[in-house]
Amino acid sequence: MSDREMRSEPQNFLERIIEDDLANGRVPHNEIVTRFPPEPNGYLHIGHIKSIALNFGLAEKYGGRCHLRLDDTNPEKEEMEYTEAIMRDIRWLGFDWGEHEYHASDYYRQLYEIALHLIETGQAFVCELDPDQMREYRGTLTEPGKNSPYRDRPIEENLRLFKEMKAGKHPEGSYVLRAKIDMASPNMNLRDPVLYRIKFATHPRTGDDWCIYPMYDYTHPISDAIEGITHSICTLEFEDHRPAYDWATSIDLIDHTPRQYEFARLNIDYTLMSKRRLLSLVQMGVVDGWDDPRMPTISGIRRRGYSPEAMLDFVGRIGVAKVEGIVEHSLLEFCVREDLNKRAKRLMVVLDPIKVVIDNFPEGKVEYVEALNNPEDPEGGTRLVPFSREVFIEREDFMEKPPKGYHRLSIGTEIRLIYAYYITAHSVIKDDDGNVLEVHCTYDPESRGGQTADGRRVRGTSHWVSAAEGVSIEVRLYDKLFLAEEPGKETGNFLDDLNPESLVVVEDAKAEPEVLKAKAGDYLQFIRNGYFCVDSKDSTPEKPIYNRTVTLRDTWARMKKKMGI
Ligand code: ATP
Ligand code: MG
Repeated sequence: MSDREMRSEPQNFLERIIEDDLANGRVPHNEIVTRFPPEPNGYLHIGHIKSIALNFGLAEKYGGRCHLRLDDTNPEKEEMEYTEAIMRDIRWLGFDWGEHEYHASDYYRQLYEIALHLIETGQAFVCELDPDQMREYRGTLTEPGKNSPYRDRPIEENLRLFKEMKAGKHPEGSYVLRAKIDMASPNMNLRDPVLYRIKFATHPRTGDDWCIYPMYDYTHPISDAIEGITHSICTLEFEDHRPAYDWATSIDLIDHTPRQYEFARLNIDYTLMSKRRLLSLVQMGVVDGWDDPRMPTISGIRRRGYSPEAMLDFVGRIGVAKVEGIVEHSLLEFCVREDLNKRAKRLMVVLDPIKVVIDNFPEGKVEYVEALNNPEDPEGGTRLVPFSREVFIEREDFMEKPPKGYHRLSIGTEIRLIYAYYITAHSVIKDDDGNVLEVHCTYDPESRGGQTADGRRVRGTSHWVSAAEGVSIEVRLYDKLFLAEEPGKETGNFLDDLNPESLVVVEDAKAEPEVLKAKAGDYLQFIRNGYFCVDSKDSTPEKPIYNRTVTLRDTWARMKKKMGI
């Protein structure tokens, strides 16, 4: 069977376009070439995953290739750190651009030559309107613009001025190079757009070689053409720029004509997804850097414990469309849970410990009970967990005077300590303020593994950690960074919607010793408490730290339902 026959049906409008182009011989060498073109001015976020999966996915499906192009034309905002992070994040998702790493800055020389050609052929001119005048001449959506008084400058003078701009002879803002297209065009992007501006900024790659920098609408299409991109896929806000794209790719020096297609960007409720805003969260210290586990950046979610597979599943479920919408954050978390349920190693950790003393268990004795590593995975195996006379359970798993319907531990009731024994509580020891310090119990030595000789059943089951053998760990409970569906919608300032409890630190949680075997990148479930991972940045052998990836259930959705919203 040929590749084409084995391929799945087209999944979206872009695949239909590509298949039609292939079928009608519109693709040079029948090779689909896409690109992912981030600007290295920040870290990639979940929205970018959609674009990455789409561009690399199309290339994979149709046997073509996908380029990584760093769109680096704004030297003031761009840094090597961002480029490195971008590459790390794409690789983490499992995509590979192979040898096809490109930078818009690689094309500065060619872009400059093309600009000279535009000037020489009367298609570009040097303009010295100041920004206010520029705006005035530009017109509005309902009124045409006016030609710049510099539009008819003689070619020789344009050439001289442009070369002087390049040579650093003129200050920033004094001149720009503009295309001569049409000041009356209904499309504002065709009203003699600026092609070059002067910037005395050191570029992360080209240093001080250039002090004129090309604009996006000029650079992007020409970069696509130079690289032989066939399908240039971007988000809907560039729809209005398509005529400018087509103008640039039809410049007579350019012999390859890529096409631009737009799709709806990914938006998620309760989440900010703009690099500019994410940068301000970092700069204001609202979060602990770009990789703070509350950030929707790829580095953030990786540190949070989301897997690449879960993220690709998520963007796959959303699909590719032409209409903007807002995806629910709970869908994202659903995908994360689905994935972690299958792969996370189960462990016992008590976040808010209360001590249980089993009076009839021999002092100093340690028994090892067998626990399943993952009930969802038949190959998951088991581990041994130390059990002894004193154990911790969650404070909320005990009540001295329980209300009706409480099935956990209380005086006179019997519960099961998972994988270990049945215990019955008899008395408590309190401090002077009446806080329970210890719950005294007895255990049924015949109930090991959770079954008794008489087959009696209990309603409650608690997880537990041996007091002597357990280890102390720090646990960071992460929640949504924002409390509003659209942060900033009400007041115009997204800081007003910050969730003050987006991070709750548990300094001294008690964990079975096996927890210390986990490495950064391992997926864990602390049973009944959620999915967790080792914090890849701050955790040390002396001070092990674990991040909550996601709760076991969607408490947020349940709460909303309860409140009727
Ligand atoms: P931001 O608006 O967050 O600053 P951007 O669009 O400026 O993002 P770029 O680095 O220019 O970021 O984006 C690289 C590619 O990723 C572009 O093709 C862009 O269209 C796409 N992209 C950016 N944000 C999203 C999103 N939320 N959903 C889908 N694709 C996106
Ligand atoms: Mg951008």
